[in-house]
Amino acid sequence: MTKLSIKCLQTHILITEPIFTISRFGKPVIERGMYRYNRNNRSIGPRGFWTCTRNSKGCRATITTFDNVIIKENNTHNHF
Ligand SMILES: [Zn+2]
Repeated sequence: MTKLSIKCLQTHILITEPIFTISRFGKPVIERGMYRYNRNNRSIGPRGFWTCTRNSKGCRATITTFDNVIIKENNTHNHF
């Protein structure tokens, strides 16, 4: 891996590093770059299932977490 690609990778991680936070409605939210995810009701125990906030508008992007660590991610958004 060249120096340049490492720098790009680091920049990419910095931009898209997930932030676990609470929405103004008191619900848990993941902020990931320009996208936000709501915790789904199907989340059980340490396993979390998160859907994009635009899920109701047909966006299929999801995140699966375990102990607040992302173990699976589908980044396919249908919007910016
Ligand atoms: Zn989306």
